[in-house]
Amino acid sequence: MNEGESFHVAIIGAGMGGLACALALAKYGIERIDVYEAASNLGFVGAGIQLAPNMGRILERLGCWETITKEATEIKVASIRLDFSYVRKRYGTPHMVDHRSSLAGGMYDACKKEKAISFHFNSSCTVKTWEPKPRITVTPRDGEPYNVYVDVVLAADGIKSSVRSQILKELNVDAEVTDSGQSAYRIMLTREQMASDPEMLELLEADQVTRWIGERRHIIAYPIGDKNIYNISSAQPDVHFASAPSATYTTRGSKSDMLDSFKDFCPLVQRMLNLVPDGEVCEWKLRIHSPLPTWVRGSVALVGDACHPTLPHLAQGAAQAIEDAGVLAVVLSMLPDRNPDSINKALRVYEVVRKERAETLVDLAAASCKTLHLGEGAAKEERDKQFAALKVKEGPSPDKYFDAEVQKMIMGIDVMRVAHDEFRKTFAMKKD
Ligand SMILES: Cc1cc2nc3c(=O)[nH]c(=O)nc-3n(C[C@H](O)[C@H](O)[C@H](O)COP(=O)(O)OP(=O)(O)OC[C@H]3O[C@@H](n4cnc5c(N)ncnc54)[C@H](O)[C@@H]3O)c2cc1C
Repeated sequence: MNEGESFHVAIIGAGMGGLACALALAKYGIERIDVYEAASNLGFVGAGIQLAPNMGRILERLGCWETITKEATEIKVASIRLDFSYVRKRYGTPHMVDHRSSLAGGMYDACKKEKAISFHFNSSCTVKTWEPKPRITVTPRDGEPYNVYVDVVLAADGIKSSVRSQILKELNVDAEVTDSGQSAYRIMLTREQMASDPEMLELLEADQVTRWIGERRHIIAYPIGDKNIYNISSAQPDVHFASAPSATYTTRGSKSDMLDSFKDFCPLVQRMLNLVPDGEVCEWKLRIHSPLPTWVRGSVALVGDACHPTLPHLAQGAAQAIEDAGVLAVVLSMLPDRNPDSINKALRVYEVVRKERAETLVDLAAASCKTLHLGEGAAKEERDKQFAALKVKEGPSPDKYFDAEVQKMIMGIDVMRVAHDEFRKTFAMKKD
């Protein structure tokens, strides 16, 4: 693709998807990448994140996995006392957990070393024309709007994506968003807060993800930050967001409501939740977004939560955004020319490789949660029998996060390799 001017990609949003796209594209030889972020900085919500092997494989290739996981905990045991350490052996990369800031910060630091990438913070960005060459309008917080023509736009503008709304409006389709009836609390306890409780310290010291399950609610927790912080995330019936506008995804939660939600859980859980200072309960609304008719329009593609927001129960949202980035890097770097038709065809390869897979995980996350949240009855009895059988030998798990077949599908597929093969097939290239 050496036709004079640099091949120019604009990325809207510097969240997990945008950062991963910038880094992957730069590593795969894209010459000019501008990342536009509406916020003044990366502005992470302080919470933990699970770093699954399908994410690790790509970040390893991009050269930042080691830095990102410096303080991460490698998970070797899962709550239902399954040995989890086989994951590293089976998939080549361990399953880790750590701060979100380590993941985003590690990718950002790696991006800053790439000459091709420029960040523009305080800069909100919209797409004005889609093809043949997309035109974007950038509105800096303290300046006049300006237009830029680029070869490709990657809209990694998150769950409230305005580019998604624009595409759907042009297609005359509504985005279906249904209320899951649930919200999530995200909590971080420090070592100091837990220090006087031996049972809690044991959890903090263990290489373990622990899930507590109850009717219509659960908690998942793991140690992060070099085992100095215990990260707790929950799902429970939502009381606060019921009347909130659909644009509201986070709010300050109430400690007494949180305690009330988990009052039937074991004493250890009660003690942990009691440690949360008043005013530090962060609550996220969990909504289910139906599949979109397409992720691509002209030379513009959606990325990450903009096109496949996933309930957190499989811990795969950011991992899937990073898979998007890896695939986009492969298909854009393989382009034989800069013709908008070729670009659109390459973005369609991205869609073929990623859309069905991501949407399968969206469905699985929603289904798995239903099983986890069963109340008394035959279905729950059957589920618990399956859990008990897992203590003896590997088999199907009602919690899809721990299910061997689901893990094989999530962790065992190298999407970048699939993209490479699919691109060659679509562009009728000879085999390597
Ligand atoms: C409770 C919970 C737990 C989770 N746990 C995990 C986990 O353990 N593992 C995992 O892999 N995933 C997890 N996820 C999912 C994960 O956090 C998301 O999937 C991921 O962060 C999405 O990244 P993104 O880049 O697509 O969007 P975002 O991170 O939302 O980034 C979008 C960015 O775009 C910017 N932006 C928006 N509009 C514009 C505009 N017009 N111009 C410029 N900038 C704009 C925003 O400011 C933002 O910075 C969890 C999610 C939740 C809710």
